[in-house]
Amino acid sequence: MKELNKTRMLAEFKEIVALPCHTLQERPVLELLQSKLAAMGFEMQEDDAGKQLGGNCGNLWAFLPGNKEGATSVLFSAHMDGVEPCGGTTVVQKDGILYSDGTTILGGDDKSGVVAILEGVRMLLEENAEHGDIQLLFTIAEEGGVNGSRCMDKSLLKAEVGYALDSEGAPGEIVVGAPGQYKYTISIHGKKAHGGLEPEKGINSVMIAAKALADVKRYGRIDEETTCNIGIINGGTATNIVPDLVVIQGDARSRNNEKLNAIKDEIVNTICTSAEKYGAKAEAEVENKYSSFLVEEDSKVVELAKDACAACGFKADVTLTGGGSDANFINAYGVPCVILGTGMSNVHTVEEFLKEEDLYNSAYLVYEILKAAAK
Ligand SMILES: [Zn+2]
Repeated sequence: MKELNKTRMLAEFKEIVALPCHTLQERPVLELLQSKLAAMGFEMQEDDAGKQLGGNCGNLWAFLPGNKEGATSVLFSAHMDGVEPCGGTTVVQKDGILYSDGTTILGGDDKSGVVAILEGVRMLLEENAEHGDIQLLFTIAEEGGVNGSRCMDKSLLKAEVGYALDSEGAPGEIVVGAPGQYKYTISIHGKKAHGGLEPEKGINSVMIAAKALADVKRYGRIDEETTCNIGIINGGTATNIVPDLVVIQGDARSRNNEKLNAIKDEIVNTICTSAEKYGAKAEAEVENKYSSFLVEEDSKVVELAKDACAACGFKADVTLTGGGSDANFINAYGVPCVILGTGMSNVHTVEEFLKEEDLYNSAYLVYEILKAAAK
């Protein structure tokens, strides 16, 4: 197998994690990627996701036309933002493992994916290998609700298969399914009255919320791929006031969109119908955070990843996840996409770490996926 330029890749990782990358403040990362991708011959576009979300830049799209007729076109994706405390990371190397200095996250989530894409593609281009069309998508605002990819300009998506490099498993992990999620907020409106002087004039929204919640028969784990949770309840202002408002918030998740819709409807309808039956008014706000996806194991996107794993000597580990990511929207918008593990570990903490070997192996995998797609 072609030798990877580890020194260059590690230097690039350090360079990128040193940049500020707060969610919706990703422009420094975007600008650095623009200059690197321009040098590699990519055409680029920035979409208006940042405008929609109030950020300082959009998602970065890059495209390099293929040089081989009939090769599969491939999309690679990674997100540019990190969770707090992020940016300005000083990388500390110890026994082949990368850490931060303890004051920030390392940023392997998701800069390990970003540099793996850059280095994997660069390796391929440096040997003038045959390849199909290569599309890259570097998203904003993945952290805190997968908003950047939700707002992407989906008309720009044009690959046949997609790979989001954004999972904790080691290179070789292929995540083929993830749940969708709904969030719901239900307001139960009663009527305010003085609790001591004239309670009979009030409608007690706290008591009605309690009864309505007691009518919810299914919650928590629904089945192997479906869960729901009522997580927040707020209401009332004083012990001597009949409360006129209670707000209940919860979510529902499933890898099966039908089951997801069913449990979301069941919970929201039960609470609303019951609250009205007990004399209050109820209104529900339901937000579809993202849809589920499940890619068939014998589909092209998985086959190419498995071929690449075999070429790299990695054990392919086909699995499912419980969380949402950019892959949910890439799939929802029409490109079958799996998530690849990059070895990022203890993410979202200042104890985050990444094995150097996993960093390099992710680049090998990108390179071999492009090779497999050109066969
Ligand atoms: Zn991530």
